Amino acid sequence: MIIQPKTRGFICTTAHPEGCALQVQRQIDYVKSQPAITGPKNVLVVGASTGYGLASRIVSSFASGANTVGVYFDKAAEGARTASAGWYNSAAFEQAAQEAGVKSFSIVGDAFSDEIKAKTIDLIRTELGQIDLVVYSVASPRRTHPKTGETFSSVIKPLGETYTNKTVNFHSGEVTTAVIEPATEDELRQTIAVMGGEDWQMWIDELQQAGVLAETATTVAYSYIGPEITHAVYREGTIGAAKNDLEATAQRLNKQLGTAGGRAYVSVNKALVTQSSSAIPVVPLYISALYKVMKEKGIHEGCIEQMYRLFSERLYGGGETAVDAKGLIRVDDWEMRADVQAEVTQLWANLATENVYELSDLEGYRREFFQLFGFETEGVDYEAEADPIVDIPNLR
Ligand code: NAD
Repeated sequence: MIIQPKTRGFICTTAHPEGCALQVQRQIDYVKSQPAITGPKNVLVVGASTGYGLASRIVSSFASGANTVGVYFDKAAEGARTASAGWYNSAAFEQAAQEAGVKSFSIVGDAFSDEIKAKTIDLIRTELGQIDLVVYSVASPRRTHPKTGETFSSVIKPLGETYTNKTVNFHSGEVTTAVIEPATEDELRQTIAVMGGEDWQMWIDELQQAGVLAETATTVAYSYIGPEITHAVYREGTIGAAKNDLEATAQRLNKQLGTAGGRAYVSVNKALVTQSSSAIPVVPLYISALYKVMKEKGIHEGCIEQMYRLFSERLYGGGETAVDAKGLIRVDDWEMRADVQAEVTQLWANLATENVYELSDLEGYRREFFQLFGFETEGVDYEAEADPIVDIPNLR
């Protein structure tokens, strides 16, 4: 069939298999053009099919020669419906991993469930023995608790006071004002239950108890801090509270694993276009302004450059891993540079519908959004027939 993008707000309901495969190949090519890393050998990535998790998986295999298990929530093609982008990405990744002679396995299902954890542990036991790196990169709007059965929904809202700021419809370029009412206590509780650290802790506990986590294993999860402009709705809002919980979990896990030489970190990453970040009000406009400034300064990075830097310079750079006063790894360092933030703030003050394409890289944002789903990718003939049915080689 001929596959075209179909969007509903910040969601694209179709994906292009060849475009996704080409995007993955470009990430692999980038990693292969960089020096190899003496890093992990057997890696579990929870949330492995898109964004930062996919990039972590690519760096593990193609810079460090690691075998990987990827856990993710994606759908195969069915009838007239294409598969989701993460499905096509993972199929392309696994194909390339096989060709490169590293093992890779996929488990598709709900990472929050006991069933998927048990299935993953069995797979590790039979295929890899033990894991020496666990990357936790799940971003989800919902979670069903495996013990109580309660389903939580996360919201992106400020705490205490109404938040008002500029936002953009990245399809039309219209800049409007977003007004977001504060979260209730229950919304806060539910957001922490979805995006906080409880599930990460459960994964590490269960892997450890099953004996499939190496004693000196490393684990890392991802967080975001960002600029003043978004603080009230992000870092000091419901999601920020969940990230505080994730960061507290890293400290607990660091103690838990540290006695035997293991380590746990949260890495604070740069704001980037992903399926998750496009759903946050205000953030797409901020990212557009940020991209303009960082591209002009020649310091722009995507997920793959960020994750290569995380692995090569921080986690596996040799010597102590550099962290800030709160124990966090900061690969958002270039985003947060004073000169970058000063220029973004200046642009922000003037941003409006009339000048948004001039003052920000909204066009770059929009293109990257479509590229997440395999569209607008150079080298793909979108008028040609494409087969939506693609198999993942080692799906378990
Ligand atoms: P993403 O949407 O690209 O990826 C999320 C991944 O989680 C996908 O592989 C998806 O399949 C998987 N997933 C979702 N629900 C699942 C479930 N129930 N079971 C199994 N897998 C599930 O997101 P991302 O932007 O790469 O975010 C990953 C992490 O990085 C998050 O913690 C996020 O807060 C953090 N982060 C993102 C940014 C950013 O700007 N995008 C910046 C800093 C930190």
